[in-house]
Amino acid sequence: MDADVIIIGGNHSGLSLAACLGTAGLDVLVLERGAKKQARFDGRTLALSFRSMQLLRGAGVGHLIEKDACPMRDIRVADQGSTAYLDFHSRDVGDEPFGWIVENHLFHQALNRRLDALKNVRVMHSTVVKTMECDGPLAHLTLSKGRLAAPLIVGADGRNSFCRKAAGIPAYGWNYRQTAIACVISHSKPHHNGAVEHFQPGGPFATLPMTKQRSSIIWTEKPAVAEALMEMSAAVFTQKLESKVEDWLGTIKLISRPFSYPLTLQHAKHYTAPRLVLIGDAAHGIHPIAGQGFNLGMGDIGVLTEEIVRTTRLGLDPGHPDILKRYEKRRKFDNGNMVLMTDGLVRLFSNAIPPVEFARRFGLGAMQQMPPLGRFFMRTAMGI
Ligand SMILES: Cc1cc2nc3c(=O)[nH]c(=O)nc-3n(C[C@H](O)[C@H](O)[C@H](O)COP(=O)(O)OP(=O)(O)OC[C@H]3O[C@@H](n4cnc5c(N)ncnc54)[C@H](O)[C@@H]3O)c2cc1C
Repeated sequence: MDADVIIIGGNHSGLSLAACLGTAGLDVLVLERGAKKQARFDGRTLALSFRSMQLLRGAGVGHLIEKDACPMRDIRVADQGSTAYLDFHSRDVGDEPFGWIVENHLFHQALNRRLDALKNVRVMHSTVVKTMECDGPLAHLTLSKGRLAAPLIVGADGRNSFCRKAAGIPAYGWNYRQTAIACVISHSKPHHNGAVEHFQPGGPFATLPMTKQRSSIIWTEKPAVAEALMEMSAAVFTQKLESKVEDWLGTIKLISRPFSYPLTLQHAKHYTAPRLVLIGDAAHGIHPIAGQGFNLGMGDIGVLTEEIVRTTRLGLDPGHPDILKRYEKRRKFDNGNMVLMTDGLVRLFSNAIPPVEFARRFGLGAMQQMPPLGRFFMRTAMGI
């Protein structure tokens, strides 16, 4: 046995789980196929929900990201081309912000700093797993060089998960035929910790508040339009951006190059197989319309950590079928709901058919008049 738990995939989900389990005293090994290098800016930020931040604080990561993370206190959702909008204020549900916006690469660096301080967590880079077999009390992995074994393997290896495929777990999903363009701007007026999401026929356009009077842009368009935008010079791209942001942030300046991400949905039919658990995008990859993709992964991590720690403290097997069953039962329903909700939002809001447009605008107006419903959505976004 080489570790209590072996995690395959060393990005956000794998490293966050390693920090949680490592903090709880388990012996953890992370296998990442990429080479060891400093994480680089990729245009994207994460909107970490209040609940995700609570879990990260418990794992000793929270204080490492807080100085780079901007609290998000207000959210405006608007239907482009109409006066219909909805405002959400975090003060209506308590003192905490909805969440924090942090750059992907800074989050990754903070996770690595935490893991460096945990002597019971090891990360092996440039490691490719060739086969995975379950044999009685252990799962065995064959690598390009050597073999490893542990009572539990966690697949945190993203949408194209080797673990999911090796275990023969089917997944359903589709391509949204939308591409998200992600970049960062600075602006002359303060954002006052507010985010704005405009729904337009090509997909949502969001500005998310960052530290140092900057905002993160997630601009979704049909693939052909996105491709054309990506080919524009910085000056022309900025002009197009100005027309989308409008003037609430004053004069804007593009301070990163744009990056593009094709958008798909994928949901695994099961989250477990003998001595294997799937977490994060390996189990469910969703549209970023509600900024919840990784927050769902953090939900998996919270439940899995709780189940494993409770069992191992009693000296029992962390890969026992009862743990896997409880994990799947506790996560499948919540994740399934979020998959359905985000998919429904994409279909409802990326739609210019007149009756749908009318129903949507009417719905936004009606919701403004229903504070309890608004509070329900706010709590869902915060993960509480
Ligand atoms: C434009 C955009 C904006 C987003 N914004 C938000 C947001 O605001 N909030 C939010 O919560 N989520 C957001 N998301 C979603 C979020 O980025 C993902 O949910 C998250 O990054 C998934 O992390 P992961 O670690 O599960 O998977 P991945 O990031 O895919 O990582 C998988 C890792 O496994 C490794 N790997 C793969 N196969 C193997 C193998 N066989 N052996 C070893 N290693 C392997 C890979 O190299 C990689 O490091 C956004 C997504 C997009 C596209």
